[in-house]
Amino acid sequence: MSRPPKGIVHYIIACMRSCIEIILHQYARVTGLFAEHNRIEKVFLIGTLCSTLIMGMVFLSHGRSFYDLQLPLDLHPVKKIKPIKKTAGTFFNPKTIDLNPVREEPPSFNNGFRMPKGSREYDHSLHIDKVKFNPGTDLITIHNHKVWWESDHDGDGHDEDDHKMHRSMEEPFKRLVHLIELESKKHSRGVVLKVQDSYRAEGVHHAKSLHKQGRALDLTTGIPSELKGPGLPKEKTPGIPLSKLGKLCWAAGFDWVLYETHHIHVSCKP
Ligand SMILES: [Zn+2]
Repeated sequence: MSRPPKGIVHYIIACMRSCIEIILHQYARVTGLFAEHNRIEKVFLIGTLCSTLIMGMVFLSHGRSFYDLQLPLDLHPVKKIKPIKKTAGTFFNPKTIDLNPVREEPPSFNNGFRMPKGSREYDHSLHIDKVKFNPGTDLITIHNHKVWWESDHDGDGHDEDDHKMHRSMEEPFKRLVHLIELESKKHSRGVVLKVQDSYRAEGVHHAKSLHKQGRALDLTTGIPSELKGPGLPKEKTPGIPLSKLGKLCWAAGFDWVLYETHHIHVSCKP
């Protein structure tokens, strides 16, 4: 890039200095306060005044606070109908989880769809290389009779444990189990959540998959009497349609949700 001619730079600086002198002069005339300040103090005071004015204009133009500006655009807080609180967690670390949905369900959720809309997983659930992971302290084990765990039906020769997942998954996961229970009752169907895949230290998933830190789950649903043996359900599953499951996963609070042909993949940041 070529540098601007020296003359122009001097001219701009001279203009700016004149403007500042005029402002200082007018301010001193009105307030009579500036006479006691030296040049550095005057510049500091004018700077503070200008930045306050600019911030005020920014707030007015957006009509909201800094806090609001930091919220993701697609995170719509929903009105809680009635508070449902249940105690969950281990004996030594009891914690209360609000089982109400944390977001509105999106209007549609078709194959290949993702939430937040059109985004990449790492934008929301953090890349595996950016997260320190210690299986000994980061993984928790969840047992819930309302959930069907594929690893419990794998038979001999398999050492996976789908009950293991990252502790960041606990809250949205338990909320999802509750939401599916409500959905199932609505249609008197007895549908349960199926965990097809959870923490996998190696194999199956690609090298940077969040499954390797237990921060991803592959989910479907089904009716217990029809859930025999491992494997993904056929095209016409008797459970809740995957499009509805995707919506519920998003409402449950997972940071990223993807409809991946035969299951819903969800993930969380730590
Ligand atoms: Zn997955």
